[in-house]
Amino acid sequence: MDNCLFCKIANKELNSQIVYEDDLAVAFKDIHPKAPTHILVVPKKHLPTHLDLTEEDNTLIGHVHLVINKIAKESGLDQDGFRVVINCKEPAGQTVFHLHFHLMGGRIFNWPPG
Ligand code: 5GP
Ligand code: ZN
Repeated sequence: MDNCLFCKIANKELNSQIVYEDDLAVAFKDIHPKAPTHILVVPKKHLPTHLDLTEEDNTLIGHVHLVINKIAKESGLDQDGFRVVINCKEPAGQTVFHLHFHLMGGRIFNWPPG
């Protein structure tokens, strides 16, 4: 997808600190971390928002969750836990319109979120 920041990161047209990659997904450190561990887990398929998911993405999204689980364990977040966030559309805080999952840990998180 032209002019999509996360497609460009996935294609290596833009630099990022990649921590995991496979055929379906890439994960890299958030440039403005909001927690000691803040990793963005991104399906390589360009889907602008969560609302664009369809039945055909079932396997992809299941896979992304297993990737999150693996990175969380490798980052040592399995002891104290972690938070996974999807912001869908601007009012919910979405700023990059390529579906991504925030994996955050290393501090206490409040509930409900702001
Ligand atoms: P959103 O607000 O869409 O849920 O999340 C977008 C995230 O992407 C933000 O946490 C922001 O800090 C991060 N981000 C924006 N631009 C870049 C970039 O160029 N590189 C990296 N690694 N993260 C970015
Ligand atoms: Zn994209």
